Amino acid sequence: MAKDPVAIIGGGIAGIASALKLIELGEKVILLEKKAALGGRATSFFDPICGDEIDNGQHVLLACCTNVIDLLSGLGQEQEITWSDSFTYILPDGSRHQFAPSFLPAPLHFSQALLTFGPLKLRERLEVARAFLAMMLTTRKKLDYWANKTIGDWLQSHGQSEGTIARFWRPIVIGAVNESLEVAACNPALQVFLEGFLPHRTAARLGVAKVGLHKLYALPAYEKIINSGSEVRTHAKVKFVTRGPGGVEGLTLNDGQEIRCKRMVVALPPESLCLLTDQHGHGLVDEAFLASFTHAPIAGLHFWFDREIMDINHGALLDTELEWIFKKEKPGPKALALGAQERIQGVISAAHHLAGRSQKSVLEHALGEIHRALPKSRDAKLVRGLVVRENRATLSLNPKSELSRPSQLTAIDGCVLAGDWVQTGWPGTLEGAVRSGRTAAALLTGRSACDVLIPDLPRGFLSKILLACVPRPITLARGKSLRSR
Ligand SMILES: Cc1cc2nc3c(=O)[nH]c(=O)nc-3n(C[C@H](O)[C@H](O)[C@H](O)COP(=O)(O)OP(=O)(O)OC[C@H]3O[C@@H](n4cnc5c(N)ncnc54)[C@H](O)[C@@H]3O)c2cc1C
Repeated sequence: MAKDPVAIIGGGIAGIASALKLIELGEKVILLEKKAALGGRATSFFDPICGDEIDNGQHVLLACCTNVIDLLSGLGQEQEITWSDSFTYILPDGSRHQFAPSFLPAPLHFSQALLTFGPLKLRERLEVARAFLAMMLTTRKKLDYWANKTIGDWLQSHGQSEGTIARFWRPIVIGAVNESLEVAACNPALQVFLEGFLPHRTAARLGVAKVGLHKLYALPAYEKIINSGSEVRTHAKVKFVTRGPGGVEGLTLNDGQEIRCKRMVVALPPESLCLLTDQHGHGLVDEAFLASFTHAPIAGLHFWFDREIMDINHGALLDTELEWIFKKEKPGPKALALGAQERIQGVISAAHHLAGRSQKSVLEHALGEIHRALPKSRDAKLVRGLVVRENRATLSLNPKSELSRPSQLTAIDGCVLAGDWVQTGWPGTLEGAVRSGRTAAALLTGRSACDVLIPDLPRGFLSKILLACVPRPITLARGKSLRSR
């Protein structure tokens, strides 16, 4: 008798990664998504005025995101990412400063860039170098000590002054973990440097998609799942899960349709998982526990200008509210007809402070900062501006929530969790979500996470010696099989 398909609840990138991995392992799946399209929080839509496909927020990758890169390559989409080794920092006076690796081997490849980094005074550059040396001496014991503290605590206790925090640590940390340094848990933030800067010369390469997120991965994934003989249902909100003495028995959609299944991946963020019950109305996971997770917002700012104003692909703005700017693909025919020649996207992470501010005030402020950073913009006309605020962009990864992230196994046989917020060893990112989805596939098929995850980037020869004691990110599900519990 044919096995029931594995049901996957939630069509974000974690659910998609689960589906693709299960199919690769020979399973049939049914992927259920309540919205009209797959993609979840990493999505894009067509601007109603200009007609261009724009992302809900700029998503970037680092080369150390080995599993996202592998997912894209499995979809034949790796050529849609542009990679760059060099970061351009722009000060409010318009001066530009490159941060690029030298010929030296990792972990020394950024040392020259750091020691000549214009936005910092010499004393500050040496402070940062000292902090990197301390990171190289990180051990499991030290990570345990810092587990209930913030990255701000770590930086202070390692002698980092306000100047280095504002111009070096803050822009990287806030972009990567989407929380302020005073709130963000220490270990996920440290991990950004331990994996992104130190192990390999290419680990910090910045990847930016050439197309909207829907085209990049959601649509190709949809087609791959359908073409493999599995099923994707959109507009399919799961109302409750039926459980029996032996574990999962099926689920029921909002419209009353029932689906039989013995295995299920619940790839939902905490606030959606909170609403999902069993047939008796009991939560699948303790609701009080789920309520303890709070969110951090990100604002995406979209600008269409009447001429080309940006001569670099991306830049990090220092001493500003707007943190990053990205040059986007050429405007489409509708935008061109409105007079637009250039589209730029800006990012404000951990955007708690924007609550209550009008769209106009956020745009005007950001425009002033763009004028200072990109002089050509001063004479340009703004054809359209738009702010997209994602209030629940990521989990607010403070020490308490970091320590509370659940394992992927649940008390219900046949039911595993996935999503960027479960324990993956990664911050709430695309990479964390993909790792969780792939690990869920492993757990449901009696495999270990190591069988399905692409390993972290290998360390170069010098990194192997100098970082010998630094632990690598581990998938905390550690490959336990559901059946072996
Ligand atoms: C503006 C913004 C910028 C970001 N920038 C970056 C970045 O630069 N780099 C990076 O790595 N990460 C970034 N992230 C984070 C990244 O987008 C998330 O970590 C990732 O998308 C989370 O995926 P997920 O599958 O875990 O969850 P989700 O995407 O939230 O997926 C859950 C899905 O479940 C569906 N659902 C909910 N309830 C039900 C139900 N009852 N039945 C069926 N379906 C249901 C939802 O509609 C949703 O599609 C950013 C996020 C945002 C919002």
